[in-house]
Amino acid sequence: LLLKNCRAAVLDERTVIKRVDILITGRKIAKIGKQLKAEEAEVIDCSKVVVIPGFVNAHAHTPLLFLRGAADDLEFSSWLKTVWQKEQRLNRQEVLRFASLASIELLKQGTVCVVDTYLFWDAIAEARKLLGPITYTGPGLRLQPRRELPDAGWLEACRQGYVRPILSIHSLYNINNISEAKELLAQVPADVPVTLHLAETRQEVAEIKRRYGCYPLELLEREGLLRGRKWLLVHCGWITSREVELLRKHKNSVLVVHCPSSTMKLATYGFLPLKELLQAGIRVALGTDSPASCGSLSMPLEARTALLLYRHSYWTAELTAQEVFKMITSTFFEFMNIPAGKIKEGYFAHLLLIDDVFPYLHPFSSRRLVSHLVLNPFYRIKKVII
Ligand SMILES: [Zn+2]
Repeated sequence: LLLKNCRAAVLDERTVIKRVDILITGRKIAKIGKQLKAEEAEVIDCSKVVVIPGFVNAHAHTPLLFLRGAADDLEFSSWLKTVWQKEQRLNRQEVLRFASLASIELLKQGTVCVVDTYLFWDAIAEARKLLGPITYTGPGLRLQPRRELPDAGWLEACRQGYVRPILSIHSLYNINNISEAKELLAQVPADVPVTLHLAETRQEVAEIKRRYGCYPLELLEREGLLRGRKWLLVHCGWITSREVELLRKHKNSVLVVHCPSSTMKLATYGFLPLKELLQAGIRVALGTDSPASCGSLSMPLEARTALLLYRHSYWTAELTAQEVFKMITSTFFEFMNIPAGKIKEGYFAHLLLIDDVFPYLHPFSSRRLVSHLVLNPFYRIKKVII
C-alpha cells in the first residue's frame, strides 16, 4: 500500500512533515520519503489527507455500552451497585453483540488498540479477532457481579487475529484476599500483563487499609507483585506521595492509566497526580473506562479532557497538547515494547487518514496541527489502517 503525496504526516507528537509518501508492506511501514515508487502497490492519493498514528484506549469495558446513559446521574458507589445488578442478567450473546457494536464505534473514532476487559471476555475476543481493533482482553478475578476465572484454553483464545491476552484483576476490594490474586498470577506466564483498578475512591483506600494495614500500592509492593510482570494500574486517584515513589521504583513494569472523564463524571474526586507522575518519569496512558462511566469511547476527547483538567488543577499551561497526544498514541506501545504508535520505518502501520482539514484543522500549519487534533477533535477519519 502506498500513501501518495500526504498533505501532512504526523510522525509523532513533535514531528509533522508535509508532502510525503508512506509505503506499507505487510503490516509495517517500509519507507517514508518523497516520490516513492512501488510497482505492485495499491496507491491511495493522499494529497488532501493528513496521516496520523492511530489511537490507543488503555482502559475500557466496551460491552457496557448497553448501559450508556442508564445511570448517568449517580455517584460512584450507587452507580457501581446499579451496574452490577444489571450485569447479573447479561448473557454471552448480548456481550458479543455489544462488543461488535463497540468495534464500529472504536474504529470510527480512530482507536486502533484497546484494552477491553469484561464479563464473557471470550465474546469480546470473538467480536474482535477478525475485525479489530487490536484488543487486549482476558478473564479476570472478581467477586461481583460474578466470578469468572480463567479456564485452560484462555491464553490460546486470546492469541488469535487482532486479540492479545491480558489478565484482569478487578480491584483489591472486589476479591477475597490478596493471596487469591497471588495464586492466580503464579499460574499465568510472566509476559502476560495485568490490569487492575487501583485507588479509584477514598472508600477503597480506607477498605484496603482496614483489611491489610497499608495503602494499595504498598500492599502490591509488600507482596512482591510489582516485579517481573507488566501492570496497568487504572485510576490511581487516591495515591500518596510514598506510593508515587513506589511507582517510580517500578517504572519499567507499571503503566498508570488515567481516565479523567470517568473520574469526573462519577464524582470520585480522585485526583491522579499527573504532574508528579510525569516528573518521576512514570508512563501515563489514557483510557475512557466504560461507556456507562464516561459516556464516550473517544480518545482525542479524553486527551482534550486530560489536558484541560491538568491545567485547571495545577494552574499551569506546562502540559502540552503534544504530551497528551503521545499518551493516546505511542505510550502504551512503548511500555509493551511494541514498535508502533509512531509513523516510523519498521513500525507497525496503525494509521488514520483524515480528509477534512477544513474546518476542524484550520488554519492548517505543521506547528499547530497536533494542537488542533487534541483540542478540536471533531474531524472525520476517512480510513483506519491496522
Ligand atoms: Zn474500569
